[in-house]
Amino acid sequence: MQANIVLLPGDGIGPEVVAEAVRALEAVAAKFGHTFSFTERLMGGCSIDQFGTSLTEETLADCQAADAVLLGAVGGPKWDDPAAKDRPERGLLALRKGLGVFANLRPVKVHPALIDCSPLKPEKVRGVDILVIRELTGGLYFGWPKGREVKDGRERAVDTLEYYDYEIRRILELAFKMATGRKKKVTSVDKANVLESSRLWRQIAIETGKKYPEITLEHVLVDTASMRLITGPAWMDVIVTENMFGDILTDEASVLAGSMGMLPSASLGERGPGLYEPIHGSAPDIAGKGIANPIGTILSAAMLLRYSLGLEVEAAALEQAVEQAISDGCRTADLGGSLTTRQMTDEILRRMRDAENPAPIH
Ligand code: NAD
Repeated sequence: MQANIVLLPGDGIGPEVVAEAVRALEAVAAKFGHTFSFTERLMGGCSIDQFGTSLTEETLADCQAADAVLLGAVGGPKWDDPAAKDRPERGLLALRKGLGVFANLRPVKVHPALIDCSPLKPEKVRGVDILVIRELTGGLYFGWPKGREVKDGRERAVDTLEYYDYEIRRILELAFKMATGRKKKVTSVDKANVLESSRLWRQIAIETGKKYPEITLEHVLVDTASMRLITGPAWMDVIVTENMFGDILTDEASVLAGSMGMLPSASLGERGPGLYEPIHGSAPDIAGKGIANPIGTILSAAMLLRYSLGLEVEAAALEQAVEQAISDGCRTADLGGSLTTRQMTDEILRRMRDAENPAPIH
């Protein structure tokens, strides 16, 4: 297979971890006989510095024309001025919107060897294997009207939580499809006791669920869901929710695994390239030190192989190599070890090269 992948390393540790994921993809290409070409572009704070905007039209067009996009992280104290006319995060929202990636998939799996790194008691996190699916291009972050005004001598701010039926239906369809290949359970999270948009969400969840009789559907209010993620995460499987609830719950779920540096994500649309990125930010506190954990980005590359290129065997080979390296005790500083970013990748790639994988099915 030939594939064109656009790289957006971004800011802080972004370039450090993306460089390792590229090494991983090159190792996969060499092992399985594929050709991946990489085009690197600026996005986020570095793009503001160079072009005066966090995402140029040319970069967006390159991403739209690619087979997949791999992103590091954006942002940092240099671009944090709330009065600035552009911010790195604006580029991220524009990229998601421009690619039409409405579904953000965040698998949260607690590796048995890392149970002690989790802030929760071992008996709570043992066996946790959750897939959070967050709606990404609707809701409060995009609804209109939005803004501030002075009304009757008072300053007033407004954001709008808006959803159309088709936006809800397509993400729920995806959640049920994903649940089919897992434990056959969907937890739909809403706030239907208060919000009209959540009542529409719940109605469509029930309608969609009727098409998948083999899947158990439960509805959980967002406040209860946030509690359950701490008290009984091992009982949850596929969680699907709207944009802002998902933003908060995915960060909460991410701490279960012990380090932000471990977790990948994929953002998918109905067609066009997917966007793949670790869930962590640009980590300015460790940027430039060469100690960032590359696993979140390497596992994002595995998701890219699976969802954008259809290379399931290759994705699984990379994931198994990560599992094996962790089981063998390889650790970066965030996990209490001393391996550098590059050494951690070396350990993973050595295991992938050495493993006997089944022949790829093409
Ligand atoms: P962060 O995720 O960057 O860092 C939080 C903590 O986790 C830090 O102590 C950091 O050192 C550690 N950490 C994160 N990734 C790690 C890795 N791979 N290996 C080892 N340790 C890691 O969150 P923050 O500090 O709140 O934000 C820093 C900047 O990143 C801000 O400008 C924020 O806006 C931005 N941000 C960007 C994204 C994104 O690009 N998608 C997401 C979140 C935050």
